[in-house]
Amino acid sequence: MSSPMQVRTMISPARYVQGKGAIHRVGEFLTPLGSKPLIVADDLVWGFVAHDVEASMTAASLPTTRVGFGGVPSANEVNRLTALIAEHQADVIVAVGGGSTIDAVKASGYAAGIRWVTVPTVASTDAPTSALSVIYTDDGVFEEYRFFPRNPDLVLVDTQLVANAPASFLAAGVGDALATWLEARATSQSFANTMAGGLPTVTGTALARLSWDVLWENALPALDAVRDNVVTPALEKVVEANTLLSGLGFESGGLAAAHAIHNGLTAANQTHGLAHGQKVNIGSLTQLVLEGAPSADIRDFVEFTTRVGLPNTLTEIGLSTDDDEDLRRVAEAATVPGETIHNMPFPVGVDDLTSALKSIERLSAGIRRQAGLPEPVQYKATH
Ligand SMILES: [Zn+2]
Repeated sequence: MSSPMQVRTMISPARYVQGKGAIHRVGEFLTPLGSKPLIVADDLVWGFVAHDVEASMTAASLPTTRVGFGGVPSANEVNRLTALIAEHQADVIVAVGGGSTIDAVKASGYAAGIRWVTVPTVASTDAPTSALSVIYTDDGVFEEYRFFPRNPDLVLVDTQLVANAPASFLAAGVGDALATWLEARATSQSFANTMAGGLPTVTGTALARLSWDVLWENALPALDAVRDNVVTPALEKVVEANTLLSGLGFESGGLAAAHAIHNGLTAANQTHGLAHGQKVNIGSLTQLVLEGAPSADIRDFVEFTTRVGLPNTLTEIGLSTDDDEDLRRVAEAATVPGETIHNMPFPVGVDDLTSALKSIERLSAGIRRQAGLPEPVQYKATH
């Protein structure tokens, strides 16, 4: 609850750079930040970007030193990268890749006391801009949020790389970013603290809302652009919404039920192959159910997210209404003390959440049938 000592606060990265071909200028933007960068990229990503990154680093008189990424942002992986920073005497660490690489790199840069930079090659999460990392066990179960005193010094996104990646990555990012407004709205109603460590500013809440509006207007044409591997104004807007607006909006606008439900879902093995944003979308719909949102809002959300290619039923994430034990374990994990579900403007218990999770199956399937949208089928793992 609000007290006289509480402040409103907003935090952000020092610089955000986005555009087609932006990777060609990574060396130039790194120059003010350090002289011995350590790049972290998995082999697949490095295969796509090595040539352009090396050319840009050479042009900026910077060395190109790159190490691989282990796949999961776990405490062990963060420790491994922290040791590599010392071994290479790096003064800035650069994450090139997706949200997992980025989370591990931010935590290791902080642990080593150097600066950190993110170069997302997909727009699949809002991890690139924030001053926190989500840490998982080596098996991929949510473990903790780690908070840092600074955001990345630089976030650089090449929209051509986003356009070259499978459309499912962009769709997952839309799922992560749609949650931002739903959670910021709940946080502003409950006068709870945001991930930035204070009450939300009107700025943080407004950016979360802007992210939502940009996505409803542009997500479907942006996904079509990615299917053709082309950069269009709609894609530029969606990349910015998924990355910058959603990043600022979740961190300084507040998280609530949707992300807590995501974290709870990681306790169910069935969901492990799914992307962060896919699980978050189940959380968003479940939050709307918990809120008793108007049925027109729920119908619009189910129809839109089905068209985007996001799951909104248990079937799609490998669960069913008969999985009582699994659903209860998810609900227990999502409601542990300290989880952001307690930022909702009303109390949410394990029973309430188990019921809400069960209810989305019939709810979404019915809405989809009425709209002539495809029947739910289980998603294939994306990683
Ligand atoms: Zn997220």
